[in-house]
Amino acid sequence: MTRICKVLDCGAPAASRYSPHCHRHKSVLRRQGDPDQTAIRVTELAPFVRLVRRRVARNPDSPLWEHLEGRWRGIAEEARAGAFSAVWSRHERAAAAEVMNIDADCPAREIVVVALAMFILWRERPARLRSDRAFRLQLARRVRALSGRHSGLRYDHQTGTQKRVYREMTPKAGAILGHKLALAFGGAGLQLAMLEERERERARQTAEDINQAIKELK
Ligand SMILES: [Zn+2]
Repeated sequence: MTRICKVLDCGAPAASRYSPHCHRHKSVLRRQGDPDQTAIRVTELAPFVRLVRRRVARNPDSPLWEHLEGRWRGIAEEARAGAFSAVWSRHERAAAAEVMNIDADCPAREIVVVALAMFILWRERPARLRSDRAFRLQLARRVRALSGRHSGLRYDHQTGTQKRVYREMTPKAGAILGHKLALAFGGAGLQLAMLEERERERARQTAEDINQAIKELK
């Protein structure tokens, strides 16, 4: 008997005897961290990036940003130290290579802003992320997208033209990177998300008080 893909309403046969998913959902699981997860696009993250930038602009002298940048620099230093280490697994070395590419292309501040924005998105749209694992992979993918080094040109012998090819991050390297980013920025990210919520609630309360006061005018 052929097994059916575990994803509800999919109905396609499982990719193999050992796979709970069909070929398509198996591939989505690898790329996105969950068979039901779709990529968080840069446009979708943009409003949350704006929230973080506004918070930074309102608190330019806060030591928080420097601390968080320091955490990224720590990740980058660790990557440089271990990238060619024989004791690291090949997945750890692949994750280190990703970190070094991002670090070479992008200021620490940008990495911090995008990581914090991802935590605010998660808090505000919890249903958008299917699992913790999916969140960490999406976090890794958005931060990685800050580097331009994952696309390159390849010569196509059939057409005699150059083609732009996209180099995928391996799922294991993505999981390692996502885990490092979550450890470094998760605490601050979730606190910032709660601060946004409290401010919105205060603004809503003020608007309500004003409306009520207007109703009561004689
Ligand atoms: Zn399926």
